[in-house]
Amino acid sequence: MLSIQTEEFSIFKQLAECGHQKVVFCNDADTGLKAIIAIHDTTLGPALGGTRMWAYKSETEALADVLRLSRAMTYKASITGLNLGGGKAVIIGDNRVDKSEALMRRYGRFIKNLNGSFITAEELGTSPKDMEYIRMETQHVCGVSESLGGSGDPSPVTAKGVYMGIKACVKEYFGSDSLAGRSVAVQGIGQVGENLVHLLREENAKVYVSDIDEDRLMKVAKKYGAEAVATHSIFDLDIDIYAPCAFGATVNSETIEKMNCAIIAGSANNQLLNEQEHGQQLLDKGILYAPDYLINAGGLINCYSEIAGYSKKRTMQLAENIYEATRSVLRKSKTENIPTNEAANKIAEKRIADMRKIKGTY
Ligand code: NAD
Repeated sequence: MLSIQTEEFSIFKQLAECGHQKVVFCNDADTGLKAIIAIHDTTLGPALGGTRMWAYKSETEALADVLRLSRAMTYKASITGLNLGGGKAVIIGDNRVDKSEALMRRYGRFIKNLNGSFITAEELGTSPKDMEYIRMETQHVCGVSESLGGSGDPSPVTAKGVYMGIKACVKEYFGSDSLAGRSVAVQGIGQVGENLVHLLREENAKVYVSDIDEDRLMKVAKKYGAEAVATHSIFDLDIDIYAPCAFGATVNSETIEKMNCAIIAGSANNQLLNEQEHGQQLLDKGILYAPDYLINAGGLINCYSEIAGYSKKRTMQLAENIYEATRSVLRKSKTENIPTNEAANKIAEKRIADMRKIKGTY
């Protein structure tokens, strides 16, 4: 039976609040596909964003997630200077049991019907193999393996961007961007974290590492000459830089109170538990925060390069631009005495507004 929308829940109200252009609901009974593709803004170019597959508790939760994530992609592409818009997609289901070739290919057909206004990539719960299935139906997908002409693992590019963001902050705080002798605590030494440790140690930074995976922790610490610390004691360290590279929301009232560092710069998404409150708290405490979505844009840069015809050299050059982009954010934050995350948002919004003046939407 068709249920009628109640007055309290309005999809269009949600879209208006976040400024979305289009949301596509993909339904296919044969494969069990239930997906939502959200296109937030295409002023700068086609909307690019990963496809997340997750066992959401409700459709409302899935919609809220895709709207929030797609909007964030608009900001990320804009501040990074890429000609891309923001989008994201979610497939509702348990990625361990509900995924199949047919489901992914059917989903690929929905993307194909969007005629290039949405390009997707791997995200939580999807893999390069899934992207290959999508590629069988549409060209509008990136993040396929190198053997298929794709860009492969984005982590080294992400780590490079984070490293450049760290250097920009160090320049602002200490007057020189040299990392020699600077102390850095890297929380989470997975794909990005390990690559970051490598770059930091190459420049003779003093590196502390922590990870819940003990074996990995010991291996990485030994390989790069870093000092392993227990996960619970990372905020007891007296360090120059805290680099969160594991999960989000590690910057909150409780941890800010404890923190003994000059700079926060890492790859994790959504590092601030509450954007407004904790951005301001960091400013008040004099801790320089490199906005996460700016310095972790390497993954997006990797996809962007793949669309343009992949070149490793060009990709790394784009990641290096994160240095200047971070400097601009820090300058604006200082001049206007506003949190760095707010300064980043303003710069991203201004670029979109400026480009809107010179052309219509994609
Ligand atoms: P990953 O899963 O390879 O690594 C995460 C590491 O964090 C793992 O080794 C895990 O054991 C560790 N970890 C988990 N909980 C921890 C805890 N409490 N304390 C310390 N370590 C803990 O992930 P990744 O690809 O390296 O990504 C790291 C972060 O950066 C994620 O938040 C991801 O969303 C974000 N990010 C990654 C990319 C990319 O290119 N991979 C791009 C943008 C953002």
